[in-house]
Amino acid sequence: MPLKLPSWLSLLIAFAATGGAPATPAAAQEVQAGWALVDITPPLGYRMSGYFRERRATGIKDPLHAKAIVLKQDDVTVALVFCDLIGVPWYVSRATRRAIEDRYGIPPERCSVMATHTHTGPLYFGAIRELLHRQAIEKHGRDPAEPVDYAAFLEERIVEAVGKALDRLRPVRLRVATVKQEPQISFNRRFYMKNGTVRFNPGQLNPNIVRPAGPIDPEVNVLVFDDPTDGRPLGALTVFAMHLDTVGGTEYSADYPYHLEVALRRRYGEGFVSFFGTGTCGDINHIDVTVRGRRSAQELGELLAGSVSRAIKAARPVDAPSLATAHRVVRVPLQHYSQAEIEEARRQYPNIVSRSLPFLERVRIYKIMALQWRGGDSIDLEVHAFRIGHDTAIVTLPGEVFVDLGLQIKRASPFKHTFVIELANDAPGYIPTEKAFREGSYETVNSRIAPGGGERLAASALEALRSLADTAGDSTR
Ligand SMILES: [Zn+2]
Repeated sequence: MPLKLPSWLSLLIAFAATGGAPATPAAAQEVQAGWALVDITPPLGYRMSGYFRERRATGIKDPLHAKAIVLKQDDVTVALVFCDLIGVPWYVSRATRRAIEDRYGIPPERCSVMATHTHTGPLYFGAIRELLHRQAIEKHGRDPAEPVDYAAFLEERIVEAVGKALDRLRPVRLRVATVKQEPQISFNRRFYMKNGTVRFNPGQLNPNIVRPAGPIDPEVNVLVFDDPTDGRPLGALTVFAMHLDTVGGTEYSADYPYHLEVALRRRYGEGFVSFFGTGTCGDINHIDVTVRGRRSAQELGELLAGSVSRAIKAARPVDAPSLATAHRVVRVPLQHYSQAEIEEARRQYPNIVSRSLPFLERVRIYKIMALQWRGGDSIDLEVHAFRIGHDTAIVTLPGEVFVDLGLQIKRASPFKHTFVIELANDAPGYIPTEKAFREGSYETVNSRIAPGGGERLAASALEALRSLADTAGDSTR
């Protein structure tokens, strides 16, 4: 159902949009927004990411997209790109943002390229891809699972999406709401077990579970883009913290955000665009261990659409829209392994995709090889903070960030509505808390950063947000 506005309000908005005199001489221009969707579905037969085994795509459940939003106010232009991918590695994000800067003048510090983390997209980077790619070349002289250079294709498509979004800039009315998910669809996936250990995904109805080892983030943050003339919602950015691994199989799919968009289009019209930013869900998924059975991607998307629709209804205009950005780079040490450990991992490397070793042992070998693939003994984690208005900001972070870190940022943020989005501009694996590192289990075995890096990332995000709050209302920005 399109939002119905009283006609006097529509008139007022129409007047404001068509150049009503600014309230004060210093008032900034209105915010403009433009967006575009491009298809980034790889060809069939391409290798798929998400698990420790080889899968090749046999079909398309629903197409994968890169969705770009450009926001512009006065001389500040920012771009946010959401990709239906497991991750975007640093070198792809860097090259893409450089091309965007060259072509459109939006600097990398004001542009964030994010992945939703779907587990039914292409495997185009990382240590597992490297292994399977090399094995294929040894066997066939070429890699039949890579009929195209996907990274190059992706770069091109993202740049194209940002260009189209810029062409479509138009005045919008921005509204914002933060609601609680209803019903609960997300769960912490780490548990204290009766034997004193912590285990991830211990299985449903497992009698040895004591309780979850961490919280969830129940918030659904929604930024709504309304048509300023008739108040109709044209699109919305939703941020929610729940792992996108609900489809599986060998057909491409954008996972539950696809069904979120389908459901929202039923309510708000076919032209409605749903952007999905994945919240900090390194340790959050959709599995309720207290019951049997799991919700499908479609059920999850539709239930989430219920919460998003409530948010769209309840959303209030963003207070004093004033676009500004802050960018930080945090250098964080990586884990260190001895030469002997690296040699042993290299020897065992082919076993990461076989079942000949225990799962966590395979994960550890994978992690050591991922560190070799990446190189260096530290990593630069980029933080982007985008102020939308006095009460609203978006923060983007690399990696699969544990929910506690996102909650820390939200709680201490000077903004009433803080959207925290993970897997931005790099995919260096899990970013656990120090507590989780002490407790162990899958995510920390898989993680490449040294303990403490996550806390430093969160501190930097907060510092960036605070710097933007300090200058809120400063018309020169
Ligand atoms: Zn995952």
